Amino acid sequence: MGDATDPFESLQQQVREAAAEIDLDDGVVERLTNPERILELSLSVKMDDGSVEVFDAYRSQFNGDRGPYKGGIRYHPRVNRSEVKALSGWMVYKCAAVNIPYGGGKGGIAINPVNYSASEIERITRAYAKELRPIIGADRDIPAPDVNTGQREMNWIKDTYETLEGTTEPGVVTGKGIESGGSAGRVEATGRSVMLATREACAYLDRDIQEATVAVQGYGNAGSVAAKLLDDLGVDVVAVSDSSGAVYSEDGLDTRAAKQFKTETGSLSGFDGATEKFSNDDLLTMDVDVLIPAALENAINADIAERTGADLVVEAANGPLTPPADDILTERDVAVVPDILANAGGVTVSYFEWVQNRQRFAWTEQRVNDELERYIVEAFESMIDAYENRSVPNFRVAMYTVALERVARASKESGIWP
Ligand code: GLU
Repeated sequence: MGDATDPFESLQQQVREAAAEIDLDDGVVERLTNPERILELSLSVKMDDGSVEVFDAYRSQFNGDRGPYKGGIRYHPRVNRSEVKALSGWMVYKCAAVNIPYGGGKGGIAINPVNYSASEIERITRAYAKELRPIIGADRDIPAPDVNTGQREMNWIKDTYETLEGTTEPGVVTGKGIESGGSAGRVEATGRSVMLATREACAYLDRDIQEATVAVQGYGNAGSVAAKLLDDLGVDVVAVSDSSGAVYSEDGLDTRAAKQFKTETGSLSGFDGATEKFSNDDLLTMDVDVLIPAALENAINADIAERTGADLVVEAANGPLTPPADDILTERDVAVVPDILANAGGVTVSYFEWVQNRQRFAWTEQRVNDELERYIVEAFESMIDAYENRSVPNFRVAMYTVALERVARASKESGIWP
Protein backbone atom coordinates (compact mmCIF):
# COMPACT_ATOMS: atom_id res chain seq x y z
CA MET A 1 0.00 0.00 0.00
CA GLY A 2 1.51 3.28 -1.11
CA ASP A 3 0.22 5.38 1.77
CA ALA A 4 -0.11 2.70 4.45
CA THR A 5 0.07 5.28 7.19
CA ASP A 6 1.07 4.45 10.70
CA PRO A 7 -2.33 4.11 12.45
CA PHE A 8 -1.14 6.15 15.42
CA GLU A 9 -0.33 9.06 13.09
CA SER A 10 -3.81 8.73 11.58
CA LEU A 11 -5.37 8.98 15.03
CA GLN A 12 -3.28 12.02 15.95
CA GLN A 13 -4.13 13.71 12.67
CA GLN A 14 -7.85 13.09 13.15
CA VAL A 15 -7.83 14.54 16.67
CA ARG A 16 -5.71 17.56 15.63
CA GLU A 17 -8.05 18.35 12.77
CA ALA A 18 -11.02 18.43 15.14
CA ALA A 19 -9.00 20.35 17.75
CA ALA A 20 -8.37 23.12 15.21
CA GLU A 21 -12.15 23.52 14.81
CA ILE A 22 -12.82 23.89 18.51
CA ASP A 23 -9.76 25.91 19.37
CA LEU A 24 -8.03 23.89 22.11
CA ASP A 25 -4.74 24.78 23.79
CA ASP A 26 -1.70 23.08 22.30
CA GLY A 27 -0.87 21.41 25.63
CA VAL A 28 -4.34 19.92 25.89
CA VAL A 29 -4.15 18.65 22.32
CA GLU A 30 -0.76 17.10 23.08
CA ARG A 31 -2.22 15.41 26.14
CA LEU A 32 -5.23 14.10 24.23
CA THR A 33 -3.18 12.71 21.33
CA ASN A 34 -0.80 10.57 23.41
CA PRO A 35 -1.45 7.59 25.68
CA GLU A 36 -1.09 7.95 29.44
CA ARG A 37 0.73 4.61 29.76
CA ILE A 38 1.55 1.44 27.88
CA LEU A 39 2.31 -1.96 29.34
CA GLU A 40 4.65 -3.92 27.09
CA LEU A 41 5.12 -7.63 27.77
CA SER A 42 7.01 -10.71 26.66
CA LEU A 43 4.77 -13.62 27.59
CA SER A 44 6.52 -16.96 28.07
CA VAL A 45 4.10 -19.81 27.51
CA LYS A 46 4.52 -23.58 27.48
CA MET A 47 3.32 -25.20 24.25
CA ASP A 48 1.59 -28.59 23.98
CA ASP A 49 4.87 -30.27 22.98
CA GLY A 50 6.66 -28.97 26.07
CA SER A 51 8.61 -26.20 24.30
CA VAL A 52 8.40 -22.56 25.40
CA GLU A 53 7.32 -19.73 23.13
CA VAL A 54 7.53 -16.01 23.83
CA PHE A 55 4.87 -13.58 22.59
CA ASP A 56 4.93 -9.78 22.39
CA ALA A 57 1.86 -8.33 24.10
CA TYR A 58 0.62 -4.86 25.02
CA ARG A 59 -2.03 -2.87 26.85
CA SER A 60 -2.31 0.84 26.19
CA GLN A 61 -4.30 3.07 28.54
CA PHE A 62 -4.82 6.18 26.49
CA ASN A 63 -7.02 8.44 28.57
CA GLY A 64 -9.12 7.96 31.70
CA ASP A 65 -10.66 11.40 32.19
CA ARG A 66 -14.21 10.23 31.42
CA GLY A 67 -14.06 6.92 33.28
CA PRO A 68 -12.23 3.58 33.39
CA TYR A 69 -10.09 2.71 30.36
CA LYS A 70 -12.15 0.56 28.01
CA GLY A 71 -11.35 -1.41 24.91
CA GLY A 72 -10.73 -4.75 23.32
CA ILE A 73 -7.90 -7.23 23.08
CA ARG A 74 -6.71 -8.28 19.64
CA TYR A 75 -4.88 -11.47 18.64
CA HIS A 76 -3.23 -10.87 15.29
CA PRO A 77 0.27 -11.24 13.83
CA ARG A 78 0.27 -7.54 12.89
CA VAL A 79 -0.27 -6.33 16.47
CA ASN A 80 2.45 -3.87 17.49
CA ARG A 81 2.95 -1.00 19.89
CA SER A 82 1.91 1.71 17.46
CA GLU A 83 -1.27 -0.09 16.40
CA VAL A 84 -2.31 -0.69 20.00
CA LYS A 85 -1.67 2.98 20.83
CA ALA A 86 -3.86 4.07 17.92
CA LEU A 87 -6.64 1.64 18.74
CA SER A 88 -6.65 2.77 22.38
CA GLY A 89 -6.96 6.40 21.28
CA TRP A 90 -9.84 5.60 18.95
CA MET A 91 -11.60 4.01 21.95
CA VAL A 92 -11.38 7.30 23.89
CA TYR A 93 -13.17 9.18 21.14
CA LYS A 94 -15.59 6.33 20.40
CA CYS A 95 -16.77 6.20 24.02
CA ALA A 96 -17.11 9.98 24.04
CA ALA A 97 -18.95 9.98 20.68
CA VAL A 98 -21.70 7.73 22.05
CA ASN A 99 -21.43 9.41 25.45
CA ILE A 100 -20.76 6.42 27.68
CA PRO A 101 -18.72 6.98 30.87
CA TYR A 102 -15.40 5.49 29.81
CA GLY A 103 -11.94 6.44 28.75
CA GLY A 104 -10.09 4.36 26.18
CA GLY A 105 -7.66 1.48 26.19
CA LYS A 106 -6.64 -1.40 23.95
CA GLY A 107 -4.52 -4.50 24.15
CA GLY A 108 -3.15 -7.12 21.88
CA ILE A 109 -0.92 -10.13 21.45
CA ALA A 110 1.20 -10.56 18.31
CA ILE A 111 0.04 -14.03 17.36
CA ASN A 112 -1.73 -15.86 14.58
CA PRO A 113 -4.20 -17.86 16.67
CA VAL A 114 -4.96 -20.41 13.92
CA ASN A 115 -1.48 -21.86 14.47
CA TYR A 116 -2.19 -22.80 18.11
CA SER A 117 -4.39 -25.37 19.87
CA ALA A 118 -7.25 -24.33 22.15
CA SER A 119 -5.26 -25.29 25.25
CA GLU A 120 -2.29 -23.23 24.04
CA ILE A 121 -4.57 -20.23 23.42
CA GLU A 122 -5.95 -20.70 26.94
CA ARG A 123 -2.48 -20.66 28.51
CA ILE A 124 -1.45 -17.65 26.40
CA THR A 125 -4.64 -15.80 27.43
CA ARG A 126 -4.19 -16.64 31.11
CA ALA A 127 -0.52 -15.60 31.03
CA TYR A 128 -1.61 -12.27 29.54
CA ALA A 129 -4.46 -11.87 32.06
CA LYS A 130 -2.04 -12.56 34.93
CA GLU A 131 0.17 -9.70 33.73
CA LEU A 132 -2.82 -7.40 33.23
CA ARG A 133 -4.28 -8.10 36.66
CA PRO A 134 -2.64 -5.19 38.55
CA ILE A 135 -3.85 -2.62 36.02
CA ILE A 136 -7.37 -3.86 35.15
CA GLY A 137 -10.57 -3.97 37.19
CA ALA A 138 -14.23 -2.95 36.87
CA ASP A 139 -13.30 0.60 37.93
CA ARG A 140 -9.84 0.74 36.34
CA ASP A 141 -9.59 -0.79 32.89
CA ILE A 142 -12.12 -3.15 31.31
CA PRO A 143 -10.97 -5.33 28.39
CA ALA A 144 -13.32 -6.78 25.78
CA PRO A 145 -13.16 -8.79 22.53
CA ASP A 146 -11.58 -7.47 19.35
CA VAL A 147 -10.16 -9.14 16.22
CA ASN A 148 -9.80 -12.93 16.80
CA THR A 149 -10.97 -12.88 20.41
CA GLY A 150 -14.45 -13.56 21.77
CA GLN A 151 -16.45 -14.95 24.66
CA ARG A 152 -14.04 -17.83 25.25
CA GLU A 153 -11.03 -15.56 25.84
CA MET A 154 -13.07 -13.10 27.94
CA ASN A 155 -14.32 -15.95 30.18
CA TRP A 156 -10.69 -17.03 30.76
CA ILE A 157 -9.61 -13.47 31.57
CA LYS A 158 -12.46 -13.08 34.05
CA ASP A 159 -11.65 -16.42 35.66
CA THR A 160 -7.92 -15.66 35.93
CA TYR A 161 -8.61 -12.25 37.46
CA GLU A 162 -11.20 -13.56 39.92
CA THR A 163 -9.02 -16.50 40.94
CA LEU A 164 -6.00 -14.31 41.62
CA GLU A 165 -8.07 -11.67 43.41
CA GLY A 166 -10.09 -14.24 45.39
CA THR A 167 -13.37 -12.58 44.49
CA THR A 168 -16.15 -12.44 41.91
CA GLU A 169 -15.99 -9.41 39.65
CA PRO A 170 -17.69 -10.11 36.30
CA GLY A 171 -17.50 -6.41 35.34
CA VAL A 172 -13.70 -6.66 35.00
CA VAL A 173 -14.18 -7.67 31.38
CA THR A 174 -17.07 -7.50 28.88
CA GLY A 175 -18.08 -9.67 25.95
CA LYS A 176 -18.29 -12.75 28.17
CA GLY A 177 -20.49 -15.79 27.56
CA ILE A 178 -24.02 -15.39 28.92
CA GLU A 179 -23.51 -17.88 31.76
CA SER A 180 -20.33 -16.08 32.78
CA GLY A 181 -22.13 -12.75 33.08
CA GLY A 182 -22.29 -11.69 29.43
CA SER A 183 -25.10 -9.58 27.98
CA ALA A 184 -27.78 -10.61 25.54
CA GLY A 185 -27.13 -8.86 22.22
CA ARG A 186 -23.39 -8.25 22.80
CA VAL A 187 -22.15 -10.57 20.04
CA GLU A 188 -24.27 -8.82 17.40
CA ALA A 189 -23.86 -5.31 18.80
CA THR A 190 -21.05 -4.06 16.55
CA GLY A 191 -22.81 -5.23 13.38
CA ARG A 192 -26.08 -3.81 14.69
CA SER A 193 -24.64 -0.32 15.09
CA VAL A 194 -23.18 -0.54 11.57
CA MET A 195 -26.69 -1.34 10.31
CA LEU A 196 -28.20 1.52 12.35
CA ALA A 197 -25.55 3.98 11.16
CA THR A 198 -26.14 2.93 7.54
CA ARG A 199 -29.90 3.34 7.98
CA GLU A 200 -29.54 6.79 9.56
CA ALA A 201 -27.04 7.94 6.93
CA CYS A 202 -29.29 6.81 4.07
CA ALA A 203 -32.23 8.67 5.63
CA TYR A 204 -30.12 11.82 6.07
CA LEU A 205 -28.80 11.64 2.52
CA ASP A 206 -32.32 11.03 1.20
CA ARG A 207 -31.56 7.58 -0.20
CA ASP A 208 -34.07 4.77 -0.11
CA ILE A 209 -32.22 2.09 1.84
CA GLN A 210 -34.40 -0.65 0.37
CA GLU A 211 -33.09 0.21 -3.07
CA ALA A 212 -29.47 0.22 -1.92
CA THR A 213 -26.77 -2.24 -2.90
CA VAL A 214 -24.03 -2.96 -0.39
CA ALA A 215 -20.54 -4.49 -0.47
CA VAL A 216 -18.92 -5.70 2.75
CA GLN A 217 -15.15 -6.16 3.03
CA GLY A 218 -14.40 -8.61 5.87
CA TYR A 219 -16.83 -11.27 7.02
CA GLY A 220 -15.97 -11.66 10.70
CA ASN A 221 -18.22 -10.69 13.58
CA ALA A 222 -18.79 -7.06 12.53
CA GLY A 223 -19.11 -7.57 8.76
CA SER A 224 -21.28 -10.67 8.75
CA VAL A 225 -23.77 -9.35 11.32
CA ALA A 226 -24.00 -5.96 9.59
CA ALA A 227 -24.63 -7.77 6.29
CA LYS A 228 -27.34 -9.98 7.82
CA LEU A 229 -29.15 -7.09 9.55
CA LEU A 230 -29.01 -4.91 6.41
CA ASP A 231 -30.31 -7.86 4.41
CA ASP A 232 -33.23 -8.02 6.89
CA LEU A 233 -33.96 -4.35 6.13
CA GLY A 234 -34.35 -5.22 2.44
CA VAL A 235 -30.93 -4.08 1.24
CA ASP A 236 -29.20 -6.13 -1.49
CA VAL A 237 -25.84 -7.26 -0.13
CA VAL A 238 -24.24 -7.99 -3.51
CA ALA A 239 -20.64 -8.69 -2.50
CA VAL A 240 -18.79 -9.86 0.59
CA SER A 241 -15.17 -10.81 1.13
CA ASP A 242 -12.66 -12.26 3.54
CA SER A 243 -8.90 -12.72 3.25
CA SER A 244 -9.47 -15.52 0.67
CA GLY A 245 -11.18 -13.10 -1.77
CA ALA A 246 -14.64 -11.74 -2.60
CA VAL A 247 -17.87 -13.33 -3.82
CA TYR A 248 -20.56 -11.50 -5.79
CA SER A 249 -24.15 -11.98 -6.86
CA GLU A 250 -26.03 -9.29 -8.77
CA ASP A 251 -29.35 -10.17 -7.09
CA GLY A 252 -27.94 -10.15 -3.59
CA LEU A 253 -26.23 -12.91 -1.60
CA ASP A 254 -27.80 -15.08 1.06
CA THR A 255 -25.87 -13.44 3.91
CA ARG A 256 -26.72 -16.16 6.47
CA ALA A 257 -25.72 -19.00 4.14
CA ALA A 258 -22.43 -17.20 3.41
CA LYS A 259 -21.72 -16.93 7.13
CA GLN A 260 -22.57 -20.58 7.69
CA PHE A 261 -20.31 -21.58 4.81
CA LYS A 262 -17.44 -19.54 6.26
CA THR A 263 -17.96 -21.01 9.73
CA GLU A 264 -17.97 -24.55 8.35
CA THR A 265 -15.10 -24.28 5.87
CA GLY A 266 -13.03 -21.47 7.36
CA SER A 267 -13.37 -19.17 4.33
CA LEU A 268 -15.79 -17.77 1.74
CA SER A 269 -13.79 -19.32 -1.07
CA GLY A 270 -16.00 -21.81 -2.94
CA PHE A 271 -19.29 -20.41 -1.60
CA ASP A 272 -21.78 -21.62 -4.19
CA GLY A 273 -24.44 -18.97 -3.50
CA ALA A 274 -22.36 -16.50 -5.55
CA THR A 275 -22.25 -16.03 -9.31
CA GLU A 276 -18.76 -14.57 -9.44
CA LYS A 277 -15.55 -14.55 -7.50
CA PHE A 278 -13.17 -11.63 -7.54
CA SER A 279 -10.49 -9.87 -5.52
CA ASN A 280 -10.81 -7.69 -2.45
CA ASP A 281 -9.55 -4.78 -4.54
CA ASP A 282 -12.43 -5.28 -6.98
CA LEU A 283 -14.88 -5.29 -4.09
CA LEU A 284 -13.53 -2.03 -2.67
CA THR A 285 -13.90 -0.26 -6.01
CA MET A 286 -17.14 -1.78 -7.30
CA ASP A 287 -20.17 0.21 -8.23
CA VAL A 288 -22.45 -0.12 -5.18
CA ASP A 289 -24.36 2.42 -3.10
CA VAL A 290 -22.76 1.54 0.23
CA LEU A 291 -19.30 0.17 0.98
CA ILE A 292 -18.66 -1.30 4.43
CA PRO A 293 -14.98 -1.93 5.22
CA ALA A 294 -15.12 -4.41 8.13
CA ALA A 295 -11.58 -5.82 8.27
CA LEU A 296 -8.43 -4.05 9.46
CA GLU A 297 -6.80 -0.59 9.38
CA ASN A 298 -5.66 1.04 6.13
CA ALA A 299 -7.80 -1.22 3.89
CA ILE A 300 -8.65 1.78 1.70
CA ASN A 301 -5.65 3.81 0.55
CA ALA A 302 -5.53 6.81 -1.79
CA ASP A 303 -5.40 4.68 -4.92
CA ILE A 304 -8.51 2.71 -3.94
CA ALA A 305 -10.29 5.87 -2.73
CA GLU A 306 -9.84 7.40 -6.23
CA ARG A 307 -11.64 4.40 -7.69
CA THR A 308 -14.28 3.68 -5.03
CA GLY A 309 -17.68 3.28 -6.69
CA ALA A 310 -19.82 3.75 -3.57
CA ASP A 311 -21.21 7.11 -2.51
CA LEU A 312 -21.51 6.13 1.14
CA VAL A 313 -18.82 4.39 3.18
CA VAL A 314 -19.69 3.08 6.66
CA GLU A 315 -16.64 2.12 8.72
CA ALA A 316 -17.25 -1.15 10.56
CA ALA A 317 -13.50 -1.66 11.10
CA ASN A 318 -11.36 0.66 13.19
CA GLY A 319 -9.32 3.01 11.00
CA PRO A 320 -10.03 1.40 7.61
CA LEU A 321 -9.21 4.60 5.65
CA THR A 322 -5.77 6.15 5.46
CA PRO A 323 -5.89 9.96 5.95
CA PRO A 324 -5.12 10.60 2.22
CA ALA A 325 -7.97 8.24 1.30
CA ASP A 326 -10.24 10.12 3.67
CA ASP A 327 -9.32 13.45 1.99
CA ILE A 328 -9.96 12.01 -1.46
CA LEU A 329 -13.40 10.71 -0.49
CA THR A 330 -14.27 14.12 0.97
CA GLU A 331 -13.17 15.80 -2.28
CA ARG A 332 -15.16 13.28 -4.29
CA ASP A 333 -18.24 13.95 -2.13
CA VAL A 334 -18.41 10.39 -0.86
CA ALA A 335 -20.01 10.43 2.62
CA VAL A 336 -18.13 8.48 5.30
CA VAL A 337 -19.74 7.47 8.60
CA PRO A 338 -16.69 7.25 10.89
CA ASP A 339 -15.69 4.16 12.87
CA ILE A 340 -16.04 5.93 16.23
CA LEU A 341 -19.78 6.09 15.56
CA ALA A 342 -20.53 3.24 13.14
CA ASN A 343 -18.87 0.43 15.10
CA ALA A 344 -19.54 1.88 18.57
CA GLY A 345 -22.33 -0.65 19.16
CA GLY A 346 -19.81 -3.14 20.53
CA VAL A 347 -18.54 -0.92 23.30
CA THR A 348 -22.01 0.50 23.95
CA VAL A 349 -23.39 -2.96 24.71
CA SER A 350 -20.19 -3.66 26.68
CA TYR A 351 -21.26 -0.70 28.80
CA PHE A 352 -24.73 -2.26 29.22
CA GLU A 353 -23.06 -5.55 30.18
CA TRP A 354 -20.95 -3.79 32.81
CA VAL A 355 -24.03 -1.99 34.18
CA GLN A 356 -25.88 -5.34 34.40
CA ASN A 357 -22.85 -6.95 36.11
CA ARG A 358 -22.72 -4.20 38.70
CA GLN A 359 -26.44 -4.46 39.37
CA ARG A 360 -26.44 -8.28 39.13
CA PHE A 361 -29.56 -7.86 37.03
CA ALA A 362 -29.83 -9.11 33.44
CA TRP A 363 -31.70 -7.21 30.74
CA THR A 364 -33.70 -8.80 27.92
CA GLU A 365 -32.22 -8.75 24.42
CA GLN A 366 -35.03 -6.42 23.36
CA ARG A 367 -34.08 -3.91 26.03
CA VAL A 368 -30.41 -4.10 25.01
CA ASN A 369 -31.25 -3.54 21.34
CA ASP A 370 -33.67 -0.68 22.09
CA GLU A 371 -31.14 1.11 24.31
CA LEU A 372 -28.41 0.56 21.73
CA GLU A 373 -30.57 2.10 19.02
CA ARG A 374 -31.21 5.12 21.23
CA TYR A 375 -27.47 5.68 21.87
CA ILE A 376 -26.49 5.28 18.22
CA VAL A 377 -29.28 7.48 16.87
CA GLU A 378 -28.48 10.19 19.45
CA ALA A 379 -24.79 10.07 18.53
CA PHE A 380 -25.67 10.26 14.85
CA GLU A 381 -27.85 13.32 15.50
CA SER A 382 -25.07 15.01 17.49
CA MET A 383 -22.73 14.41 14.54
CA ILE A 384 -25.21 15.89 12.06
CA ASP A 385 -25.76 18.88 14.32
CA ALA A 386 -22.00 19.54 14.34
CA TYR A 387 -21.75 18.89 10.59
CA GLU A 388 -24.45 21.44 9.81
CA ASN A 389 -23.45 24.08 12.32
CA ARG A 390 -19.66 24.06 12.24
CA SER A 391 -17.34 24.63 9.34
CA VAL A 392 -16.19 21.03 9.15
CA PRO A 393 -15.45 19.20 5.90
CA ASN A 394 -17.05 15.84 6.65
CA PHE A 395 -18.87 13.61 9.15
CA ARG A 396 -15.63 12.37 10.72
CA VAL A 397 -14.38 15.79 11.74
CA ALA A 398 -17.91 16.64 12.93
CA MET A 399 -18.06 13.53 15.15
CA TYR A 400 -14.54 14.16 16.46
CA THR A 401 -15.41 17.72 17.46
CA VAL A 402 -18.33 16.42 19.56
CA ALA A 403 -16.23 13.66 21.15
CA LEU A 404 -13.14 15.81 21.69
CA GLU A 405 -15.14 18.55 23.36
CA ARG A 406 -16.48 16.01 25.85
CA VAL A 407 -13.02 14.58 26.58
CA ALA A 408 -11.40 18.01 26.80
CA ARG A 409 -14.09 19.23 29.19
CA ALA A 410 -13.61 16.20 31.49
CA SER A 411 -9.86 16.65 31.28
CA LYS A 412 -10.13 20.32 32.19
CA GLU A 413 -12.53 19.64 35.06
CA SER A 414 -10.20 16.96 36.48
CA GLY A 415 -7.24 19.31 36.25
CA ILE A 416 -3.62 18.27 36.10
CA TRP A 417 -2.28 16.54 39.22
CA PRO A 418 -0.19 17.30 41.19
N1 GLU B 1 -13.15 -4.05 20.30
C1 GLU B 1 -14.37 -3.31 20.18
C2 GLU B 1 -14.09 -1.94 19.62
O1 GLU B 1 -13.10 -1.71 18.95
C3 GLU B 1 -15.20 -3.31 21.45
C4 GLU B 1 -14.54 -2.73 22.67
C5 GLU B 1 -15.30 -2.91 23.96
O2 GLU B 1 -16.38 -3.48 23.96
O3 GLU B 1 -14.78 -2.45 24.99
O4 GLU B 1 -14.87 -1.04 19.76
